[in-house]
Amino acid sequence: MSRIAYLVVAFAILSAGCKKEEPEPPAAPAATTPPPAPAPNDPLTMGNPSGAIASVVLANNYLIERPQFSLAYDNSRGTASWVAWHLSSEWLGPVPRCDCFSPDPLLPNGYFVAFTWNYTNTGFNRGHLCPSGDRTATDADNVATFFMTNICPQAPVLNQQTWAYLESFSRDLAYAGYELYIYAGGYGSGGSGSLGGITYTIANGSITVPERYWKVMLILPVGEDDLQRITSDTRIIALDMPNTQQANAQPWYDYRTSVDEIEAVTGLDFFNGLPVALQASLEAGVDAGVVH
Ligand code: MN
Ligand code: MN
Repeated sequence: MSRIAYLVVAFAILSAGCKKEEPEPPAAPAATTPPPAPAPNDPLTMGNPSGAIASVVLANNYLIERPQFSLAYDNSRGTASWVAWHLSSEWLGPVPRCDCFSPDPLLPNGYFVAFTWNYTNTGFNRGHLCPSGDRTATDADNVATFFMTNICPQAPVLNQQTWAYLESFSRDLAYAGYELYIYAGGYGSGGSGSLGGITYTIANGSITVPERYWKVMLILPVGEDDLQRITSDTRIIALDMPNTQQANAQPWYDYRTSVDEIEAVTGLDFFNGLPVALQASLEAGVDAGVVH
């Protein structure tokens, strides 16, 4: 359970226990029941970018957590607003791509549920946010990436070239001894796929076609206590790419930008598990490191 969900539950329990006739001083749940530290390599170790919780009260910010990745589902867009995952060589193995796209059974009743045929003949690919190629250690890991909540409509050229080369670079880093905390999603509406023109929605309006795709990657040498190892020198790569067939007009690394820019256009807050001053220094810069 995430720290935020834990606090909500803890507060609900404490509130229920406080229904007495005489008023009592406000409870201080954090003082007596500190939230557990995140499990090692929990993708939300560095924070929950939208404060998503697993409550149907937040239909457009609904937290789904799996061993393979976590995401916030936005029912108004019919997709995740972000997916977060951890990548290291431990996640990489021999398992083949299952190509087993399927509706996500963890979506609550009443939510829009995407099926693979929602993408048929739309001019857009079923683009993974957490890549199939990042989850090849076990069959169960790979199958999880094909739940449709991890899928968004991507222009084929973006999906198969520019975005794919970025994914490949991140796996190169994992093979080279790094571990990565990665977040990805789309924002805006209106992409241009293989049919040309601009498409704002598919699935009879239930799935928004993003105008652009973003990704944020925090990169550390493999080690322990990841949250404690972040410094202002920690490498972060943030990217913002158009959802069009012209996305390959420049290489993926020419789409690098700051985390602050991604926060401004998405309304998300990355790394909110880190001290504010450290966030500020990490988020203002644009990566200029080696990219191949
Ligand atoms: Mn680690
Ligand atoms: Mn932030």
